[in-house]
Amino acid sequence: MPQRKAETGPAEKALIAGVAKPRSHTNLDPMDSPATIDAATELKALIGLGRDELEAEIAGLGEPAFRARQLWHWIYHRGARSFEEMTTLSKSFRAKLAGRYSLARPEATRDLISTDGTRKWLMRFADGQEAETVLIPEGDRGALCISAQVGCTLNCTFCYTGTQSLVRNLTAGEIVGQIMLARDAVGEWPSPTHERQITNIVLMGMGEPLLNYDNVARAVKIALDGDGIAISRRRITLSTAGVVPMIKRCGAELGVNLAISLHAVTDELRDKIVPLNRKYPIAELLAACRAYPGASSARRITFEYIMLDGVNDSDTDAKALVKLLEGLPAKVNLIPFNPWPGALYACSPPERIDAFIKILQNAGLVAITRTPRGRDIMAACGQLRSESIKQRRFK
Ligand code: SAH
Repeated sequence: MPQRKAETGPAEKALIAGVAKPRSHTNLDPMDSPATIDAATELKALIGLGRDELEAEIAGLGEPAFRARQLWHWIYHRGARSFEEMTTLSKSFRAKLAGRYSLARPEATRDLISTDGTRKWLMRFADGQEAETVLIPEGDRGALCISAQVGCTLNCTFCYTGTQSLVRNLTAGEIVGQIMLARDAVGEWPSPTHERQITNIVLMGMGEPLLNYDNVARAVKIALDGDGIAISRRRITLSTAGVVPMIKRCGAELGVNLAISLHAVTDELRDKIVPLNRKYPIAELLAACRAYPGASSARRITFEYIMLDGVNDSDTDAKALVKLLEGLPAKVNLIPFNPWPGALYACSPPERIDAFIKILQNAGLVAITRTPRGRDIMAACGQLRSESIKQRRFK
């Protein structure tokens, strides 16, 4: 087992306070991600390896490349959970694989279903750390909301996850593993070509996906692969609080839909409620959005705007929002604040939300109010949290 860092160090505290740059714009600290070899079984995880990596692995066993392709198909198209069932592979090859590799998913340690059909899993990973994943069915669609980190560094004041400090980044395998487990649970293997229950993936769960970019990118590429999970880039949305330097890369390399957690129209307020703004203020963030590859009026950038009673929900705020988003291929999602234990905010009253959205719509902006889902099981936006804490180093 790799040793864990002791509690949050000064550098991370400075980052949390929004006064320092992260050491890297991608992974916060390689020590935060566990090895992909299960310490108990010494089996290497195959889930999370990209196509090239899987081919290299199989070539290392002296097997031809087409075997790797067959294996990929079994893992990501058929959803095989054991090598045994991979009947197109020879018995000896299957035995070789079983002796070296694992197809383990995270373990669902809690599985809750809301009165509105939203389903939330608490997922436990090999080292015991936990994160949440939410499936939100909506008519003939279903969005799976996945987590990118255990905990979060951003400390947005309205977000429950923000009360849990960052424990570690999730690996690519753990991010894809959330999709695999959800698919296992709804019985969606082999990958259906139509009438899917999980049609969309949203990176809007715990953590900031652009602060764990490398792992997120690898996971997204696996989910996109046509001979596998096969979810198109138009059906994957990454939500960020605004890690400006990574936005361009995300657009160029992944081409997924972008959602920005804007939430305020002045730097003064945004500095307070989304502390990352002190590093990447609104003007820089919007400039990155204007340059986002692939954004167009047919493919708009979503701006999420939380409705906090008396904080950011006045007519003046609405008018300023219209001005800020002028010329951008934008759509606005108003998110009624979802409460959590100890939260300092209240949700704006429905009449206020109506008045706010009318100002946006009358100005020609595409805007909707997001219906809160799964509040009864604490599965709505900003209500996810796990009990995981950073382990102390043993002396
Ligand atoms: N870190 C990423 C993704 C996680 S949060 C981001 O900031 O975008 C997903 C969305 O839920 C964000 O828009 C976030 O601001 C919003 N959110 C957080 N807490 C909330 C709450 N209590 N009520 C409603 N939305 C919330």
